[in-house]
Amino acid sequence: MKILIAKHIGFCPGVKRAYNMALQAFETRPHPVYLLGELVHNHQAVKMLVERGACLVNEVEEIPNQVTVVTRSHGLERETRRKLLGKGINIVDTTCPRVQKVQVLASELEKKGYTIIILGDPNHAEIKALISELNTKPIVLGKDSIEWDEKLSPLPKSQPLAVIEQTTFPQQQYRDFCRLLEEKKLTDRCQIYNTLCPETEYRQNELFSHLQTGKIDTVVILGGKHSSNTRGLYLVANQHAPRTIWIEDPNEVRKSWFQPNQTILIVSGASTPDHAVKELIKKIQ
Ligand code: SF4
Repeated sequence: MKILIAKHIGFCPGVKRAYNMALQAFETRPHPVYLLGELVHNHQAVKMLVERGACLVNEVEEIPNQVTVVTRSHGLERETRRKLLGKGINIVDTTCPRVQKVQVLASELEKKGYTIIILGDPNHAEIKALISELNTKPIVLGKDSIEWDEKLSPLPKSQPLAVIEQTTFPQQQYRDFCRLLEEKKLTDRCQIYNTLCPETEYRQNELFSHLQTGKIDTVVILGGKHSSNTRGLYLVANQHAPRTIWIEDPNEVRKSWFQPNQTILIVSGASTPDHAVKELIKKIQ
Protein backbone atom coordinates (compact mmCIF):
# COMPACT_ATOMS: atom_id res chain seq x y z
CA MET A 1 0.00 0.00 0.00
CA LYS A 2 1.27 3.46 -0.89
CA ILE A 3 0.57 6.39 1.41
CA LEU A 4 0.79 9.93 0.06
CA ILE A 5 0.60 12.93 2.37
CA ALA A 6 -0.54 16.36 1.27
CA LYS A 7 2.08 19.12 1.50
CA HIS A 8 -0.25 21.56 3.25
CA ILE A 9 -1.24 19.67 6.36
CA GLY A 10 -1.70 20.32 10.09
CA PHE A 11 -2.40 23.76 11.57
CA CYS A 12 -2.69 26.70 9.15
CA PRO A 13 -0.86 29.94 10.13
CA GLY A 14 -4.03 31.49 11.64
CA VAL A 15 -4.73 28.48 13.85
CA LYS A 16 -1.07 28.17 14.85
CA ARG A 17 -1.09 31.84 15.87
CA ALA A 18 -4.34 31.46 17.88
CA TYR A 19 -3.03 28.34 19.60
CA ASN A 20 0.27 30.02 20.54
CA MET A 21 -1.56 33.10 21.84
CA ALA A 22 -3.69 30.83 24.05
CA LEU A 23 -0.59 29.01 25.35
CA GLN A 24 1.11 32.31 26.10
CA ALA A 25 -1.98 33.48 28.00
CA PHE A 26 -1.83 30.34 30.17
CA GLU A 27 1.82 30.95 30.92
CA THR A 28 1.65 34.65 31.67
CA ARG A 29 -1.84 35.45 33.01
CA PRO A 30 -3.30 34.55 36.40
CA HIS A 31 -5.32 31.31 36.38
CA PRO A 32 -7.97 30.28 35.64
CA VAL A 33 -7.86 31.35 32.01
CA TYR A 34 -11.13 30.87 30.10
CA LEU A 35 -11.77 29.83 26.51
CA LEU A 36 -14.99 31.31 25.16
CA GLY A 37 -16.16 28.68 22.67
CA GLU A 38 -13.87 26.27 20.86
CA LEU A 39 -10.75 28.25 19.91
CA VAL A 40 -10.67 26.34 16.60
CA HIS A 41 -12.96 23.69 15.09
CA ASN A 42 -10.99 20.70 16.25
CA HIS A 43 -11.67 18.63 19.37
CA GLN A 44 -8.05 17.48 19.75
CA ALA A 45 -6.67 21.01 19.58
CA VAL A 46 -9.18 22.22 22.16
CA LYS A 47 -8.56 19.17 24.36
CA MET A 48 -4.82 19.98 24.38
CA LEU A 49 -5.63 23.41 25.83
CA VAL A 50 -8.13 22.08 28.37
CA GLU A 51 -5.49 19.61 29.56
CA ARG A 52 -3.22 22.57 30.21
CA GLY A 53 -5.85 24.05 32.51
CA ALA A 54 -8.11 26.12 30.25
CA CYS A 55 -11.76 26.41 31.33
CA LEU A 56 -13.95 25.98 28.27
CA VAL A 57 -17.30 27.81 28.41
CA ASN A 58 -19.84 28.75 25.77
CA GLU A 59 -21.55 31.77 27.32
CA VAL A 60 -20.21 35.03 28.71
CA GLU A 61 -22.55 34.58 31.70
CA GLU A 62 -20.53 31.53 32.80
CA ILE A 63 -17.37 33.64 33.22
CA PRO A 64 -16.53 35.47 36.46
CA ASN A 65 -15.52 39.14 36.40
CA GLN A 66 -11.95 40.31 35.80
CA VAL A 67 -10.40 37.09 34.56
CA THR A 68 -8.57 36.45 31.27
CA VAL A 69 -10.61 35.13 28.35
CA VAL A 70 -9.17 33.78 25.12
CA THR A 71 -11.61 34.23 22.24
CA ARG A 72 -11.87 32.27 19.00
CA SER A 73 -9.79 32.52 15.85
CA HIS A 74 -13.03 32.93 13.86
CA GLY A 75 -13.74 36.37 15.30
CA LEU A 76 -15.55 38.00 18.17
CA GLU A 77 -19.05 39.44 17.89
CA ARG A 78 -19.27 43.12 18.80
CA GLU A 79 -21.95 42.52 21.46
CA THR A 80 -19.92 39.73 23.08
CA ARG A 81 -16.88 42.01 23.25
CA ARG A 82 -19.01 44.69 24.91
CA LYS A 83 -20.28 42.21 27.53
CA LEU A 84 -16.76 40.94 28.27
CA LEU A 85 -15.37 44.45 28.68
CA GLY A 86 -18.34 45.27 30.92
CA LYS A 87 -17.18 42.50 33.26
CA GLY A 88 -13.67 43.92 33.42
CA ILE A 89 -12.34 40.93 31.52
CA ASN A 90 -8.92 40.86 29.93
CA ILE A 91 -9.56 39.71 26.33
CA VAL A 92 -6.98 37.76 24.35
CA ASP A 93 -8.52 38.10 20.90
CA THR A 94 -7.06 35.44 18.60
CA THR A 95 -9.07 36.42 15.50
CA CYS A 96 -7.04 35.39 12.45
CA PRO A 97 -5.65 38.48 10.65
CA ARG A 98 -7.13 37.17 7.39
CA VAL A 99 -10.58 37.09 9.00
CA GLN A 100 -10.02 40.61 10.36
CA LYS A 101 -9.08 41.82 6.89
CA VAL A 102 -12.45 40.65 5.54
CA GLN A 103 -14.26 42.46 8.38
CA VAL A 104 -12.45 45.71 7.54
CA LEU A 105 -13.21 45.29 3.83
CA ALA A 106 -16.92 44.68 4.51
CA SER A 107 -17.14 47.82 6.70
CA GLU A 108 -15.42 49.94 4.05
CA LEU A 109 -17.75 48.68 1.32
CA GLU A 110 -20.76 49.32 3.52
CA LYS A 111 -19.59 52.92 4.09
CA LYS A 112 -19.35 53.36 0.31
CA GLY A 113 -23.04 52.44 0.02
CA TYR A 114 -22.82 48.86 -1.21
CA THR A 115 -25.32 46.23 -0.17
CA ILE A 116 -23.12 43.43 1.11
CA ILE A 117 -23.68 39.86 -0.04
CA ILE A 118 -21.86 37.31 2.10
CA LEU A 119 -21.28 33.78 0.86
CA GLY A 120 -21.02 31.73 4.02
CA ASP A 121 -22.76 29.80 6.74
CA PRO A 122 -24.92 32.23 8.78
CA ASN A 123 -24.44 30.02 11.85
CA HIS A 124 -20.64 29.96 11.63
CA ALA A 125 -18.78 32.07 14.20
CA GLU A 126 -16.82 33.88 11.47
CA ILE A 127 -19.99 35.03 9.71
CA LYS A 128 -21.73 35.99 12.96
CA ALA A 129 -18.74 38.16 13.90
CA LEU A 130 -18.61 39.66 10.40
CA ILE A 131 -22.32 40.57 10.44
CA SER A 132 -21.90 42.15 13.88
CA GLU A 133 -19.36 44.60 12.39
CA LEU A 134 -21.92 45.93 9.90
CA ASN A 135 -24.58 48.55 10.54
CA THR A 136 -26.83 47.40 7.70
CA LYS A 137 -28.28 43.94 7.16
CA PRO A 138 -26.23 41.96 4.63
CA ILE A 139 -27.65 39.24 2.39
CA VAL A 140 -26.15 35.98 3.61
CA LEU A 141 -26.14 33.10 1.16
CA GLY A 142 -25.24 29.63 2.40
CA LYS A 143 -24.23 26.62 0.36
CA ASP A 144 -27.71 25.92 -1.01
CA SER A 145 -27.72 27.26 -4.59
CA ILE A 146 -31.55 27.22 -4.81
CA GLU A 147 -31.58 29.80 -2.05
CA TRP A 148 -29.10 31.98 -4.03
CA ASP A 149 -31.55 32.43 -6.86
CA GLU A 150 -34.46 33.17 -4.52
CA LYS A 151 -32.56 35.82 -2.58
CA LEU A 152 -30.99 37.54 -5.58
CA SER A 153 -34.15 37.82 -7.69
CA PRO A 154 -36.02 40.47 -5.68
CA LEU A 155 -33.07 42.92 -5.48
CA PRO A 156 -33.94 46.47 -6.68
CA LYS A 157 -32.27 47.23 -10.02
CA SER A 158 -30.27 50.28 -8.90
CA GLN A 159 -28.63 48.79 -5.82
CA PRO A 160 -24.78 48.52 -6.00
CA LEU A 161 -23.72 45.13 -4.65
CA ALA A 162 -20.48 43.79 -3.19
CA VAL A 163 -19.82 40.08 -2.70
CA ILE A 164 -17.41 38.72 -0.10
CA GLU A 165 -16.95 35.16 1.10
CA GLN A 166 -16.34 33.29 4.30
CA THR A 167 -12.57 32.66 4.24
CA THR A 168 -13.18 28.90 4.13
CA PHE A 169 -16.07 28.82 1.64
CA PRO A 170 -15.68 25.95 -0.87
CA GLN A 171 -13.96 27.25 -4.02
CA GLN A 172 -16.19 25.30 -6.36
CA GLN A 173 -19.31 26.91 -4.92
CA TYR A 174 -17.70 30.34 -5.08
CA ARG A 175 -17.14 29.77 -8.84
CA ASP A 176 -20.73 28.52 -9.26
CA PHE A 177 -21.97 31.70 -7.60
CA CYS A 178 -19.87 33.91 -9.90
CA ARG A 179 -21.39 32.07 -12.87
CA LEU A 180 -24.89 32.68 -11.51
CA LEU A 181 -24.17 36.42 -11.26
CA GLU A 182 -23.17 36.40 -14.93
CA GLU A 183 -26.29 34.49 -15.93
CA LYS A 184 -28.45 36.96 -14.04
CA LYS A 185 -26.56 39.85 -15.67
CA LEU A 186 -25.64 41.26 -12.27
CA THR A 187 -21.90 41.58 -12.83
CA ASP A 188 -22.13 45.21 -14.02
CA ARG A 189 -23.36 46.48 -10.69
CA CYS A 190 -21.70 43.89 -8.51
CA GLN A 191 -18.12 44.01 -7.19
CA ILE A 192 -16.83 40.54 -6.37
CA TYR A 193 -14.02 40.29 -3.82
CA ASN A 194 -12.31 36.96 -3.55
CA THR A 195 -11.82 36.73 0.21
CA LEU A 196 -11.18 32.99 0.34
CA CYS A 197 -8.17 32.24 2.47
CA PRO A 198 -5.18 31.13 0.33
CA GLU A 199 -4.51 28.37 2.85
CA THR A 200 -7.93 26.89 2.10
CA GLU A 201 -7.33 27.27 -1.63
CA TYR A 202 -3.88 25.59 -1.51
CA ARG A 203 -5.31 22.58 0.27
CA GLN A 204 -8.28 22.19 -2.07
CA ASN A 205 -6.12 22.73 -5.18
CA GLU A 206 -3.48 20.28 -4.00
CA LEU A 207 -6.12 17.64 -3.35
CA PHE A 208 -7.68 18.26 -6.76
CA SER A 209 -4.28 17.96 -8.53
CA HIS A 210 -3.61 14.63 -6.82
CA LEU A 211 -7.02 13.35 -7.90
CA GLN A 212 -6.47 14.49 -11.49
CA THR A 213 -3.61 11.96 -11.76
CA GLY A 214 -6.16 9.15 -11.46
CA LYS A 215 -3.76 7.26 -9.19
CA ILE A 216 -5.53 7.78 -5.85
CA ASP A 217 -7.81 5.00 -4.61
CA THR A 218 -8.84 6.48 -1.27
CA VAL A 219 -8.66 9.93 0.28
CA VAL A 220 -8.55 10.04 4.07
CA ILE A 221 -9.54 13.44 5.46
CA LEU A 222 -8.67 14.23 9.06
CA GLY A 223 -10.52 17.20 10.53
CA GLY A 224 -13.44 18.39 12.64
CA LYS A 225 -16.96 17.76 11.32
CA HIS A 226 -17.85 21.40 12.10
CA SER A 227 -14.80 22.73 10.29
CA SER A 228 -15.80 24.62 7.17
CA ASN A 229 -12.42 24.26 5.42
CA THR A 230 -12.45 20.50 6.09
CA ARG A 231 -15.92 20.33 4.53
CA GLY A 232 -14.45 22.09 1.48
CA LEU A 233 -11.88 19.26 1.19
CA TYR A 234 -14.63 16.70 1.58
CA LEU A 235 -16.66 18.25 -1.27
CA VAL A 236 -13.67 18.07 -3.63
CA ALA A 237 -12.79 14.49 -2.63
CA ASN A 238 -16.37 13.29 -2.67
CA GLN A 239 -16.81 14.54 -6.21
CA HIS A 240 -13.52 13.34 -7.71
CA ALA A 241 -12.09 10.48 -5.61
CA PRO A 242 -13.10 6.81 -5.97
CA ARG A 243 -13.50 6.67 -2.20
CA THR A 244 -13.45 9.27 0.58
CA ILE A 245 -13.18 8.69 4.32
CA TRP A 246 -13.63 11.66 6.67
CA ILE A 247 -12.57 11.10 10.28
CA GLU A 248 -12.11 13.42 13.27
CA ASP A 249 -9.74 11.22 15.22
CA PRO A 250 -6.97 8.80 14.11
CA ASN A 251 -8.45 6.21 16.48
CA GLU A 252 -11.43 5.85 14.17
CA VAL A 253 -9.23 4.14 11.54
CA ARG A 254 -10.15 0.50 10.81
CA LYS A 255 -7.84 -2.01 9.16
CA SER A 256 -10.70 -3.35 7.06
CA TRP A 257 -10.98 -0.01 5.22
CA PHE A 258 -7.75 -0.58 3.32
CA GLN A 259 -6.57 -3.14 0.77
CA PRO A 260 -3.04 -4.00 -0.34
CA ASN A 261 -1.85 -2.32 -3.59
CA GLN A 262 -3.98 0.75 -2.95
CA THR A 263 -2.77 4.34 -3.00
CA ILE A 264 -4.05 6.38 -0.07
CA LEU A 265 -3.89 10.16 0.11
CA ILE A 266 -3.99 11.83 3.54
CA VAL A 267 -5.20 15.42 3.82
CA SER A 268 -6.18 17.47 6.86
CA GLY A 269 -8.27 20.46 7.81
CA ALA A 270 -6.57 23.71 8.83
CA SER A 271 -7.30 23.23 12.53
CA THR A 272 -6.00 19.66 12.81
CA PRO A 273 -2.88 19.45 14.99
CA ASP A 274 0.31 18.11 13.35
CA HIS A 275 0.64 15.38 15.96
CA ALA A 276 -2.83 14.02 15.04
CA VAL A 277 -1.74 13.79 11.38
CA LYS A 278 1.43 11.91 12.42
CA GLU A 279 -0.67 9.57 14.54
CA LEU A 280 -2.98 8.90 11.59
CA ILE A 281 -0.05 8.08 9.28
CA LYS A 282 1.37 5.68 11.88
CA LYS A 283 -2.00 4.05 12.37
CA ILE A 284 -2.57 3.47 8.65
CA GLN A 285 0.99 2.18 8.21
S1 SF4 B 1 -7.87 28.94 7.33
FE1 SF4 B 1 -7.05 30.93 6.73
S2 SF4 B 1 -8.51 32.39 7.58
FE2 SF4 B 1 -8.88 30.46 8.63
S3 SF4 B 1 -7.61 30.57 10.47
FE3 SF4 B 1 -6.39 29.57 8.87
S4 SF4 B 1 -5.17 31.20 7.95
FE4 SF4 B 1 -6.87 32.16 9.06
